[in-house]
Amino acid sequence: MDDDANNRPNGSNGKKEDAGIPFSIERRKFLALSALGGCALLNNPREAFAGKEFHGWPKSYGMLTDFTKCVGCRSCERACNEYNNMPGDGSSYEDSSVFDTVRRPTAQTYTVVNRYDIPEDPDNPVYRKIQCNHCQEPSCATACPIQAYSKTPEGAVLYDEDLCFGCRYCMVACPFLVPAYDYDSPFEPKIVKCILCYPRIKEGQLPACAEACPTGAVTFGRRSELLKLARKRIVAHPDKYIDHIYGEREVGSTNWLYISGVPFEQLGFPVNLPEKPMIELVKGFLSSVSVVFTVWPALFGMVYAAVRHRDEYFERDKGAKPAKPTQIDKGVEK
Ligand code: SF4
Ligand code: SF4
Ligand code: SF4
Repeated sequence: MDDDANNRPNGSNGKKEDAGIPFSIERRKFLALSALGGCALLNNPREAFAGKEFHGWPKSYGMLTDFTKCVGCRSCERACNEYNNMPGDGSSYEDSSVFDTVRRPTAQTYTVVNRYDIPEDPDNPVYRKIQCNHCQEPSCATACPIQAYSKTPEGAVLYDEDLCFGCRYCMVACPFLVPAYDYDSPFEPKIVKCILCYPRIKEGQLPACAEACPTGAVTFGRRSELLKLARKRIVAHPDKYIDHIYGEREVGSTNWLYISGVPFEQLGFPVNLPEKPMIELVKGFLSSVSVVFTVWPALFGMVYAAVRHRDEYFERDKGAKPAKPTQIDKGVEK
């Protein structure tokens, strides 16, 4: 693992050892205090939200999903749920009718695979695996008032449920609509999202989904190497790929990258995102005003309304037409 991993800000389990909140304070008491505007951390919001520039860990790992190789087998979904002890959404992994609905990650599953019909090529639908993109400068972490999120040098964005008090600002802030909330545990708030198989990569193992993928559609590696691989494929097969590596620049770049044979908007991706991370867009404001609990979510709401049509995107994604079932292409190269 990296040299820079030795300088990780958190403990080896990815949880904060000290985020400035005494662990003796029960979360519900903390929630009540916060509602009264008594959150001590917010007395110094400049350091928390707008202080230092950070452009990702240079040796971090990531994943490359190549949609031209994905056959929709959902082995990645199964492997993720089994490894992470997640129940899944209740559908059988063999049941192709699951593709009749466009799904999203939920509190029951970190990742799902959807099928998108391509009008220009109706016999060849595209399958898209969705999960957290592990942003280099994650807006979920920026929005969290108590730093329950952390970005590790390995690239994973982790979440500490012991710190969370359920405000769900992270859900609002994520430009990819990823964090899910476990509504079955109203008194034990729990945000759920992909963890890049952090315990596995710390042990030198592949993420479960990458290991399970039979076609090589999901590749794990250093982000810098994945970018080279993605470019190499695009240059070698310009007829097969569009000239865009999604995640190379979007919202300050992400550790999960994508290449595709069709434009990303046809796969439900938000494509009008700024190249700057969200914190870059708001830090001038944050440096000049005293941010209080009531201002922060409103601020994020305004920023998102300005930079993208979130609801529009969500509605379009929900309404995307499912493709007809097709046979799995067993000839896809590894
Ligand atoms: S995709 Fe969303 S949840 Fe994942 S790191 Fe980025 S902002 Fe956070
Ligand atoms: S990296 Fe791990 S946690 Fe994330 S989708 Fe893949 S198997 Fe699931
Ligand atoms: S395991 Fe690989 S080929 Fe199968 S659905 Fe997942 S990404 Fe696609």
